[in-house]
Amino acid sequence: MQVNTLILGAGAAGLHCAAHCGPGTLVLDHAKAAGEKIRISGGGRCNFTNTGTTAANFISSNPHFAKSALARYTQWDFIDLVNRHGIPWHEKTLGQLFCDTSAKDIIAMLLAEMAENAQLWLNTSIGTIRRGDTGFHVATKRQGGVQTITARNLVVATGGKSIPKMGATGLAYQIAEQFGLNVTSTRAGLVPFTFSDEKFKPLAGVATPARVGTQDGTAFDEALLFTHRGLSGPAVLQASSYWREGEEITITLSPDFDLAAALRGHRQTDGRKALSTVLGQYLPARLVDFLAADLELAGNVADASDARIDALVEALSRWRLKPAGTEGYRTAEVTLGGVDTNGLSSKTMEAKSVPGLYFIGEAVDVTGWLGGYNFQWAWSSAHAAGTAIAAGG
Ligand SMILES: Cc1cc2nc3c(=O)[nH]c(=O)nc-3n(C[C@H](O)[C@H](O)[C@H](O)COP(=O)(O)OP(=O)(O)OC[C@H]3O[C@@H](n4cnc5c(N)ncnc54)[C@H](O)[C@@H]3O)c2cc1C
Repeated sequence: MQVNTLILGAGAAGLHCAAHCGPGTLVLDHAKAAGEKIRISGGGRCNFTNTGTTAANFISSNPHFAKSALARYTQWDFIDLVNRHGIPWHEKTLGQLFCDTSAKDIIAMLLAEMAENAQLWLNTSIGTIRRGDTGFHVATKRQGGVQTITARNLVVATGGKSIPKMGATGLAYQIAEQFGLNVTSTRAGLVPFTFSDEKFKPLAGVATPARVGTQDGTAFDEALLFTHRGLSGPAVLQASSYWREGEEITITLSPDFDLAAALRGHRQTDGRKALSTVLGQYLPARLVDFLAADLELAGNVADASDARIDALVEALSRWRLKPAGTEGYRTAEVTLGGVDTNGLSSKTMEAKSVPGLYFIGEAVDVTGWLGGYNFQWAWSSAHAAGTAIAAGG
């Protein structure tokens, strides 16, 4: 069988690309349904983009690489598409846009957009890939039958390694290496931290606003969540993408509030209250109990000197912890690293050394922050490749 464009992977990037490649497009996926990660994303409501998207929200060995694709297909272009399909959405926080009803609306939209020019084969396994004079020859197996598909253009959109249970594989990296492209080292991103002694077990379920910083000076102000195994919540997931094995993280509790001034005020108004009780007005009571021994919280507020209050607030602003590790690809939302951008055109996503071979989406060494950025990268990179192919690539 011969097609103009073969897209490997029916996830966010593959489906969106299929809508732009023009006639003769075939999308293959080994999963039984398309867009499975879209379906579970954003708690089932898909945080499909972020109104504040810029290249600064992405991590890559080349921080400039994403600029071109993001500029030529922006968050506003995707919002227009969502609006044209009448999908209701809302902004939750920090520019994050979610579906009102279901992430399935986004999958249905992507399938409708590609229906005119592209076919979709699910439950299809991908075998060997060869490049010949007429294009790429890809061996496939579907419903027990083996078939080789020849394609002028091959778009690799098989994502990263996160959540192998959902069908994630390292296929994109293998294909890149097969064709002589470099792959930067990969690791789990947007992932909870674990601690070997399970020290936060008594706090499981407690959430509080915090600033979580890593040793490279990056810090995120969002919610922190204690879990049985360690730390999670948006601030921690964000920080995890900047953390390296063996490093410390620094937590600032109550980051946007002048706790020292508040505690001094309490000395006048309710000096007889226990310091721990007053602190419990600003931090979760279970967390105050947990910290009580280390912070020497015994006594009343009235007895707390300025120096003691300053020392206490300093300790709460520089809580240094050394995670044992992360939960890994099992629960990571993304894979950091991937197909080296040095080998790709930032305008078209085509491999510089292999005409007709494209890499898009999470497979590429471009990883977004939490908050809709990863889908925006999938849409933008898919559009870059799809329009280049339609224009005769
Ligand atoms: C739980 C969770 C929640 C998330 N929530 C959000 C969110 O709200 N907002 C956001 O921006 N990002 C979110 N993300 C990240 C986002 O889902 C990904 O960045 C995005 O899906 C990447 O798109 P992609 O098309 O590159 O890869 P994917 O969407 O992962 O698609 C890859 C496709 O390739 C197929 N495939 C893989 N290997 C093979 C193979 N060997 N043979 C055949 N097919 C193969 C897979 O079955 C899959 O369909 C979330 C991720 C997770 C895990």
